[in-house]
Amino acid sequence: MGLFRLITCLVIFLFAGIATPSAQANTPDNPLKVRVQLKWFHQYQFAGFYAALEQGYFRRAGLDVELIEGHPEVDLARTVVDGGAEFGVGNSSLLIDFNQGLPVVAVAAIFQHSPFVILARVDPKIRTVKDLEGRTLMGESHSAELTAYLKKAGVDLAKVRQVIHSGSVKSLAANGPERVDATTAYISTEPVEASQYGIPYQIFNPRELNIDLYGDTLFTSQRFAREHPQAVAAMRDALAEGWRYAYRHQAEIIDLILEKYHPRMDRMTLTLEAQSLYNLFLADIVDIGYMSRTRWQEIARIFAETGLLPASYTLDGFLFTPDAPMPGWAYQALAWAALVLLFGGLLIAYIVSLNRRLRLSLAQLEAANAGLAELSTTDALTGLFNRRHFDAALDRELARATRHTQAIALLMIDVDEFKKYNDALGHPAGDACLRRIADILRDNAQRASEFAARIGGEEFAIVAGGLTPDEAFALAERIRREVADAGIVHPSRDDGRVSISIGVNCAPPDRVPLTARELIAGADAALYRAKREGRNRSILHIAE
Ligand code: GH3
Ligand code: MG
Ligand code: MG
Repeated sequence: MGLFRLITCLVIFLFAGIATPSAQANTPDNPLKVRVQLKWFHQYQFAGFYAALEQGYFRRAGLDVELIEGHPEVDLARTVVDGGAEFGVGNSSLLIDFNQGLPVVAVAAIFQHSPFVILARVDPKIRTVKDLEGRTLMGESHSAELTAYLKKAGVDLAKVRQVIHSGSVKSLAANGPERVDATTAYISTEPVEASQYGIPYQIFNPRELNIDLYGDTLFTSQRFAREHPQAVAAMRDALAEGWRYAYRHQAEIIDLILEKYHPRMDRMTLTLEAQSLYNLFLADIVDIGYMSRTRWQEIARIFAETGLLPASYTLDGFLFTPDAPMPGWAYQALAWAALVLLFGGLLIAYIVSLNRRLRLSLAQLEAANAGLAELSTTDALTGLFNRRHFDAALDRELARATRHTQAIALLMIDVDEFKKYNDALGHPAGDACLRRIADILRDNAQRASEFAARIGGEEFAIVAGGLTPDEAFALAERIRREVADAGIVHPSRDDGRVSISIGVNCAPPDRVPLTARELIAGADAALYRAKREGRNRSILHIAE
């Protein structure tokens, strides 16, 4: 009897102990009211929120969520810090706000890559992002990462006329003084809109300069995180669940947006937006919302490098860690120890089952990773497009050239005597060399109608639309010279330098349409000639 009483006491004691912290948590019957300040007008960008609301995930997590629609000028960090909302959807520039003294806390990275790009009018005088000097750029608040991009690209910002974002891509085609030359944009929405309005555009993407930041990021104020750590964790988890639902039920969420949130939006725009956003999610994620300190450090480095953060920046306190308030933690530890003693058997059974589930989800993760590799469009070593994407994109460019009766050029590029390079210096050095060559290719294929791809071990290709044969050959020669001038040592070449050979096939407008196979065959033949005639040269073939 005495033992029974002891056990009863222990059970009451430990349940009281374990229940203490969660006593502050809100329940579905008594939810905590929170407002979320969105970044932009209602669209698929916020699908996870709509899904979590509709499916009751927020409610189940003890949250009564109200969404506040955003606009180009909304000051997200300030709104949340001043109590206008408990949460906000910001992006990597939150780190700048934080270092300027705004007490914000990043909770979850919703997009692993940022959708921010610059959309510019098609104009013969705007070929690279540098050409925006002396022109008008329309920008929204918190597009600091684009500032980093412009600075890294060597643009003198003092020479760019920056105007407030009108909220519509139509400003690119306006008549009179309202017209702008370029605008900050989300790759997931504005290009589609521009196409719908028939506005020709080109895209300048920060990722071309290896500026790869988190996109939409859920954040809160330090005060709210301190007072309601469990609500913050619950919000993060319910939102991730909402996004998972949205991913599986895309059409349903699009219906919901059209019905409830943004009736004027059209289905096609939302569908394309959803597709494009999932690329930003799925590229290399472990779980929706995941963020790492290392990645934030890298982001800080980019901001510091471009002067947007002082050298003395800090990350301390910026990342949300749900350190549950633990008054009387020793008491809790004691309670847990008793629990282990009493329910040891149960615990072991639980661990065994957990283990099994973990193994299962690991297997799922591996399968998912394999699937992602399949879906990926970039080559892991160089970051250029991979072979699969090259094939698809070449077909697309050929169709475009046909539609607009435009010339198209293909450059096939092969590293000279690369086998010997590997033999002499080793495979890792070979990989580093390929990366340097890839960087040069990328720098020289920056227009919207150009792209570079790695199509084989040490073989690359560049597709360029709208160039005359002379221009295509000049492009090849410029690239060839830049590689030679890079001075990468090659122990067994005569001049001691790594070089490349390039076969150019240019199809003039009157020769289009032609098939990808014909275009490649011509470039291949030219490349073969370049090799035979001594390497380190470009040969032009004109398709007839
Ligand atoms: P050539 O001038 O005729 O092109 O001579 P080559 O030695 O480059 O000849 P080939 O194109 O046949 O050889 C390709 C070599 O490239 C074989 C392999 O050693 C190397 N290679 C292919 N893929 C990779 C890679 O991913 N990394 C490294 N380090 N080397 C690679
Ligand atoms: Mg080769
Ligand atoms: Mg080679």
